[in-house]
Amino acid sequence: MKTFFRLIALVKPYFWWMALAALIGFATTGSGIGLLMTSAYIIAKAALQPPMVTLQLGIAGVRFFGLARGVFRYIERLISHNITFKILAKLRLWFYDAIEPLAPARLMHFKSGDLLQRVVDDIQSLENIYTRVLGPPLTALLVAALMWFLLGVYSLQAALLILCFHSLAGIGVPLLTRQLSRGLSVGIMNRKAEQQVLALDLFQGIGELQLYGQLPAHLAAMQSAESGKLQLQRKNAIIEGLHESLTGLLMNGALIAILWALIPSISTGVVNGISLTVITLAVMASFEPFLPLPSTLKHLEADQLAGERLFEILDAKPETVAPLTPLPFPAEHSIQVEQLSFTYPGSDTKALDRLTFTVLPGEHIAIVGPSGAGKSTITSLFMRFWNSSEGSISIGGHNITLFDPEELRRQIALVSQRTYLFAETIRENLTLAAPDATDDDLKKALTAAGLSHFTAKLDEWCGQHGMKLSGGERQRIAIARVLLQHAPIMILDEATANLDGVTEREVTQTLNAISSGKTLITITHRLKAMEQYDRILVLEKGKIVEQGLHRELMDGNGLYRRMWELQHVAEMTG
Ligand code: ADP
Repeated sequence: MKTFFRLIALVKPYFWWMALAALIGFATTGSGIGLLMTSAYIIAKAALQPPMVTLQLGIAGVRFFGLARGVFRYIERLISHNITFKILAKLRLWFYDAIEPLAPARLMHFKSGDLLQRVVDDIQSLENIYTRVLGPPLTALLVAALMWFLLGVYSLQAALLILCFHSLAGIGVPLLTRQLSRGLSVGIMNRKAEQQVLALDLFQGIGELQLYGQLPAHLAAMQSAESGKLQLQRKNAIIEGLHESLTGLLMNGALIAILWALIPSISTGVVNGISLTVITLAVMASFEPFLPLPSTLKHLEADQLAGERLFEILDAKPETVAPLTPLPFPAEHSIQVEQLSFTYPGSDTKALDRLTFTVLPGEHIAIVGPSGAGKSTITSLFMRFWNSSEGSISIGGHNITLFDPEELRRQIALVSQRTYLFAETIRENLTLAAPDATDDDLKKALTAAGLSHFTAKLDEWCGQHGMKLSGGERQRIAIARVLLQHAPIMILDEATANLDGVTEREVTQTLNAISSGKTLITITHRLKAMEQYDRILVLEKGKIVEQGLHRELMDGNGLYRRMWELQHVAEMTG
């Protein structure tokens, strides 16, 4: 229920619009009832062959209600769709706003297909919260009150009877259908989520699945998720048929009961034959707004679940929050890392253990070490994807937690091992780093990054994940982005690790050229061209075990020399 109230709080700004839509919804059903009542009046009255003039009122009523029903329906749809789209837009913006600070630390536990389902389907399901969950019960309630009043004028007994039948249709049938379909919505939603995860894995990992002969098994899993979903949907359809029949049965039951209660009143003159006909048809029409009520409960269940799934993400506390009054990024950007420790949540070993080092402005340092030593964790802490458990990183003498994280990320350019390219044009992939860059800026950056042949292809599509580009070209696009960013500090995190020897050498040369004059931290496990660095820090199990120039480290007999020999012997023999 808590989730429901939180969802209601989200749509609260549209309260008056919703109230108006419910009122007009009521006017629509009311006009339907009025139409049947006036028609019944004309037919019953005409049977007595009265003068034409006595039918005038009835005819005007039929015209009025006939037209009003259509007009009211149109206005009601207009308002409710307007509310729906407003809710949808608000939910999407609210979700993206909330999710952004959670990336990547708080989102790594969610599979991407699952996240996609939350963004698309769960929000889609919540957009109907007014039209399917809040609107129908309100309209049914107003119609029940109208009928209670209408019948109460003639007989209390009839009013009580209609109340009973309306309660059965409005509460009994929905509860029964909910009991029968318990867990169905959840099941269907889970199956859909499962399908999305499997489909996304299929698209992204089709190569691996083919390579290891797992494609048939994967397709079978997708098939089974699909047939599981179909089975649940079939059951759902049967239950929906049942609830419609039950509401129809109750309508007929109400008709008989009301006739039974009112027919004796004809002899006492409380009701005449014409009024009885009119009332009978009004009773029939009054059940129309009760038809959608069982699905209301189902939608409520689905919306609660969708809400819970969204709130589960949104309630996660962001790892990084911007300070209320962030410090401006300093012009002097020497880096001090002091006693820096970090442990990943759920892990009992420290990924970084009391790291201390400084980098002077313009200095080029390398952090090397075997895989798992904690090198990339340093990048994550610099970029504030995570916050250190102990110790600090300062730039220009200020702890980086005092800067706006977005500003910090603008001032530290990062080229990582895997450059993500969006399925957009080259231009859009570049302007990500500098939205205001002119064509000239883009071309200069591309040329400096060694992609002069791309300057004429700014509007060419890069393909899904940049598939139309080679690995070297993708890294060069990342370099062009960094150039456009004009950041004084650069971190290269295994930036050339995925490239072949020749491309690696070329890209490294470009990187060296663009990093001159900037502060550079290169993170790598491959010891290549290490002579160029002002200092090399050797990391092992989260600790700095050695540091110095390449030749000093080679003179020693530590990890660095062992790594170097291992790699160069392997290269020579390989
Ligand atoms: P390197 O970049 O030197 O290969 P990492 O910084 O990636 O090393 O990892 C350091 C240690 O932290 C490793 O033991 C690794 O398993 C662990 N680690 C890395 N990322 C995570 C994570 N998201 N959750 C838990 N442990 C992690």
